[in-house]
Amino acid sequence: MFSFAVLATQGHARRGRLTLNRGTVETPVFMPVGTYGSVKGVMPSSLEAMGVEIILGNTFHLWLRPGLDVLRRFGGLHRFEGWPRPLLTDSGGFQVWSLGANAKVSEEGVAFASPVNGDKLLLTPELSMQIQRVLDSDIAMQFDECTAYQVEGRVAGEDEVCRSMQMSLRWAKRSRDEFIRLENPNALFGIVQGGMFEVLREESIAALARLDLPGYAIGGVSVGEPKAEMQRIVAHTPHRLPAAKPRYLMGVGTPEDLLEGIAAGVDMFDCVMPTRNARNGHLFTRFGDLRIRNARYKEDEAPPDPSCACPTCARFSRAYLHHLDRCGEMLAPMLASLHNLHFYVDVMRQVRAALAEGRFDAFAAQFSADRQRGL
Ligand SMILES: [Zn+2]
Repeated sequence: MFSFAVLATQGHARRGRLTLNRGTVETPVFMPVGTYGSVKGVMPSSLEAMGVEIILGNTFHLWLRPGLDVLRRFGGLHRFEGWPRPLLTDSGGFQVWSLGANAKVSEEGVAFASPVNGDKLLLTPELSMQIQRVLDSDIAMQFDECTAYQVEGRVAGEDEVCRSMQMSLRWAKRSRDEFIRLENPNALFGIVQGGMFEVLREESIAALARLDLPGYAIGGVSVGEPKAEMQRIVAHTPHRLPAAKPRYLMGVGTPEDLLEGIAAGVDMFDCVMPTRNARNGHLFTRFGDLRIRNARYKEDEAPPDPSCACPTCARFSRAYLHHLDRCGEMLAPMLASLHNLHFYVDVMRQVRAALAEGRFDAFAAQFSADRQRGL
């Protein structure tokens, strides 16, 4: 089962609802990242309590560990990781990109040595679909080549980016054919590539739209390009995708990036930032970012974010979090992750309410002013 309904629009921004096999997802949505089958340091019950409706898993990592035999035994990733709500899995393309020079890309797929045990492996569009079939994720992603911003120390040229984008299109078709052959009952999304070239992005969109997939993602952003380049593509691409299908901006970003993406017509986001930054003592708040390691918080009795209703802010002070961090207590990154995810999820809840009431622009302006005001 898959459907998407646009419930309200304001400019390019949309308030929508995704219906998947395991539940509905209100959009715009932020999806926490659970790379190895765990949103780092956060219990699934805590994610449910804060209103998370969908999380990510990673095909590449779960294929290597625990491997398909274990996942098959559990009937997929949901039961294995104790998460009954919808799941989206990345295809492995981005992880292969992360391997850099250690991966060899050909038309067939990507050959590389396993970072776990050195085994020689070949990941293809077909194998990615077979793995995602075993994971039984509610949304599977096509296998793509995430085009690098830089190649061998220089910015990739239009010809190289074009060749990469066109291979991703051929891989999209192979992914789609294998997805159908496997009788996967879930939904497959395509991924727009084309680097920082608008004309290539438009070519990618046109070809993917002809495949008539249930949804489309924007890949190849947040891959080392300057911020202004990312903003140019995020402003350009989303609203050119088919209006009736959900649009997913992969791997982005800060709260401000999310608001810009929504204004450009994006419905879905994922990013490791709330959890990764939390582990480094970086808390996002309505009134700017808080670096809990700063000595100024040593005796601060205030909650991390006075406007936040999360379990961390309801019970603990900045001084306590500062202390836990200083002592290397594992509760420090757990409490910070809980707060940051709650903050991201709550911003999205507020965005959806603003869109439903036709006041998104005013909300975005106020949010930006609040964030810049500082704590
Ligand atoms: Zn909080």
